[in-house]
Amino acid sequence: MSSRSLCTAALVLALVASFSPDRASAYCRMTTDGSSQIGDAPCPTEGAPLYWKNPCLTYAIDYHGSVWMDFEDVESAVDQSFASWENVDCDSREAQLNPANPPNLIFKGLQSSDCRRAEFNSTGNVNTIAFLGSGDPSNESFQDPCSDQPYSSFAFAVTIVWHNTSTGEILDADMMINDQLATRQFAGGPYANCPDSGCPAGNPGEADLASIVTHEAGHFIGIGHSDDQDATMFASAERTSVAKRTLAQDDINAVCDIYPPGSLNDQCNAAPIGGLELNCETDANGDPIACDDPAGAPGSGSGCSATRTPADVPWAALLAALLGLTVLRRRSD
Ligand SMILES: [Zn+2]
Repeated sequence: MSSRSLCTAALVLALVASFSPDRASAYCRMTTDGSSQIGDAPCPTEGAPLYWKNPCLTYAIDYHGSVWMDFEDVESAVDQSFASWENVDCDSREAQLNPANPPNLIFKGLQSSDCRRAEFNSTGNVNTIAFLGSGDPSNESFQDPCSDQPYSSFAFAVTIVWHNTSTGEILDADMMINDQLATRQFAGGPYANCPDSGCPAGNPGEADLASIVTHEAGHFIGIGHSDDQDATMFASAERTSVAKRTLAQDDINAVCDIYPPGSLNDQCNAAPIGGLELNCETDANGDPIACDDPAGAPGSGSGCSATRTPADVPWAALLAALLGLTVLRRRSD
């Protein structure tokens, strides 16, 4: 499947997402044969599960940041979100600061990126976190500049997980956050670091950025949606709630099962595949990189930002999104 058709499929799924209360409560893994994880799609049963072979990982926030928050506050929310997946004791299966038996997973926040595109390259990469859409719905849409289609406006955020389609090894992950102003129908900002009691209700009211990014960080490491409505990886979010900041038992089980305690430490090699390249917008001469520039890889060019990829890896992009459709959220109990 070309990445263009993957994008199209993702948008269709977002519109038909529904809730099936009879599924067993457990986390899902994203797989090579799974479809996009948008809404309450069933757990994929075919294909190789996605995973980081070297789970010593970096991320970098695009320097433009969000129109809704100071950059330092965005950094704080993002750092807290990734740390939640590290601060777990896999022995007791509890969230814990400085756990004795953490998952074999290290996240290192880098200096800011200059990259508002989801892409995977042969010549250098960054797991970028970018805010798309300016806050003015008439001005800019929630759209990757190299894609011909916007991401779903129902989504707070989308994570694009680049992976080897044979082995499931994750090659790169990019998180795109919907920075448009939310409407009664669509997700988006304003965002904030809400107090522990949640942000006050409003019209639309501020949404808790850390809750959203913690969910997306689960996709970043290959976890799909859970039908456990208390899980961070449940497919939709209450707008002003901070609940998803805190991993539920189901989320803890997922990260400890997929990345059981191992030998990684802070000295690990966190270089992305192809080396670190924080800037995906301009080349070494400062000239803009066009979306269809091959950048060292022969044969390329699809509309879904998958434009500059290594020639020898059978790759694909899998989209996963957190929806803000709280109106569809209902409890089966
Ligand atoms: Zn999601």
